[in-house]
Amino acid sequence: MSIYVTRSSMPDYEEYIEEIKPIFESHHLTNMGPIYKKLQHQLMAYLGVPQLSMFVNGHLALETVIQAMGLKDSEGEVITTPFTFVSTTHAITRNGLKPVFCDIKPDDYTMDPAKIEALITDKTVAIVPVHVYGTLCDVEAIEAIAKKHGLKVIYDAAHAFGVKYKGVGVGNFGDAAMFSFHATKVFNTIEGGAIAFSDETLRKSLHSLKNFGIKDEECIDEVGGNAKMDEFRAAMGICNLRNIEACIAARGAAAARYNERLSGVKGIQLMKTQADVQPNYAYYAVLFDAEQFGESRDAVYDRLKANDIYARKYFYPAVNEMDCYDNTNETPVAARISRQVLTLPMYADLTEADVDRICDVILERK
Ligand SMILES: *Cc1c(COP(=O)(O)O)cnc(C)c1O
Repeated sequence: MSIYVTRSSMPDYEEYIEEIKPIFESHHLTNMGPIYKKLQHQLMAYLGVPQLSMFVNGHLALETVIQAMGLKDSEGEVITTPFTFVSTTHAITRNGLKPVFCDIKPDDYTMDPAKIEALITDKTVAIVPVHVYGTLCDVEAIEAIAKKHGLKVIYDAAHAFGVKYKGVGVGNFGDAAMFSFHATKVFNTIEGGAIAFSDETLRKSLHSLKNFGIKDEECIDEVGGNAKMDEFRAAMGICNLRNIEACIAARGAAAARYNERLSGVKGIQLMKTQADVQPNYAYYAVLFDAEQFGESRDAVYDRLKANDIYARKYFYPAVNEMDCYDNTNETPVAARISRQVLTLPMYADLTEADVDRICDVILERK
């Protein structure tokens, strides 16, 4: 049987049908209806955040919060990481802002705070770091730099649903944090996303900008888009949230089995466990040092594929190596890691036998 890199978590069919039944009576399909509000409150409690605005997907949530912060008009620069999914960089660029790429740390692959200040110019308006693979960025160092230079911080927390640092939900760091609820993420609403924040002005602005800039029936005072989460997606979220603890625990068990099988193998670097962080095991990323392991990342990828196992090269190429971005600022750590990394299959239904089958293939290198 094929093993793919991920498999979406889904509730029982009957459970979902039960949740969407009221929609067929009310005919209230979208526009922040009762199911939207129910999920919003459940998520605020689960994530431990004071405010949450839900969107049709994570990408538009990020694009919209950048616009809502008024950064769009400044033609400024935004310091971000090249080691991410393109969505992060696209959201900056589609707001008319220029991404400036900051290199990452070789041990946990998040933005290296020691390299941020050298990139700050009088045009810099914000920092957009990514909690890549659910690994927490150095939030304290980044906050200190942002304060010192008067910059906004918007976290791409697409991978970090449910992650906590010293008991504080990850959505509380920075001026805002974006979560993705895409089918492939730890928690899904089929497609979906949200912005966590605390500022009241931002609440009004996000509400308006995801609904065409409509203030009321006769007043439209901003050029907004359409990015509202509908009732059917919210219902999926309510069902999936019921199982989230079990899903994360199952991912944790799979990660533990991978660790058992792969730790101490020459030429393989595993993800670091972080002190004071409650992880969500969103991804299981492994680096292959071709010389020491005796085989390149690409060769391992091909061999897994030949065995009907589909790992992914997340994130290769690094964003600043993509055709639509040209950047002269070199990020050698990101360049190296993007060539060595393989994200192995990771999802709640992945069994110990699956992990063993994957590890057997990896370890039978010639
Ligand atoms: C998935 C993802 C996004 C975009 O989220 P969607 O909900 O798919 O629009 C943004 N950033 C990162 C790092 C992601 O992995």
